[in-house]
Amino acid sequence: MKVAVYPGSFDPITFGHIDIVKRALKVFDKLYIVISENMSKQSLFTPQERVLICEEVLSECLDKIELVVSNELTVKQAKSLGATHIVRGLRALTDFEYEFQMTGANRILDREIDTIFFMTDNKFSFLSSTTVKEIAHFKGDLSAFVPAYVLQKMNEKLH
Ligand code: ADP
Repeated sequence: MKVAVYPGSFDPITFGHIDIVKRALKVFDKLYIVISENMSKQSLFTPQERVLICEEVLSECLDKIELVVSNELTVKQAKSLGATHIVRGLRALTDFEYEFQMTGANRILDREIDTIFFMTDNKFSFLSSTTVKEIAHFKGDLSAFVPAYVLQKMNEKLH
């Protein structure tokens, strides 16, 4: 069985993340979505709230995915979950520098765990959770960016 972890903040999960999950599930039999507190970003939802939101919007693939909250090193978490790969999404060139550094560091930490990148659909290549939060703050239309359930949860939180 091919197992991978998809780590990120998912604060909140967007159509871009969902696009990557669906692509990864064509390659891996099991995908652990590992939700972490991102220390450099201010979070809107608690990790537990993010788990519940992800479970709701990914309900059709819950047989192949599992949500995990973790503050462990990604490579350690991957190992303990029996994963061989870390999945990450690539949008534009701006993602590359950061991902290049992370992949290099992770490779030094554990040579057996490799990182695999999926490129998102073009229409999501500009989309980030940060952009979504900014638009939500100004009550903009987010229907093209996040599922209706996420929108509802954001509205409950913000307005
Ligand atoms: P992190 O704080 O670790 O970057 P994110 O939740 O922002 O966590 O992103 C998790 C992963 O999903 C990263 O690999 C990121 O590049 C990817 N990702 C985020 N938004 C998109 C998108 N619109 N299309 C494809 N990948 C994305």
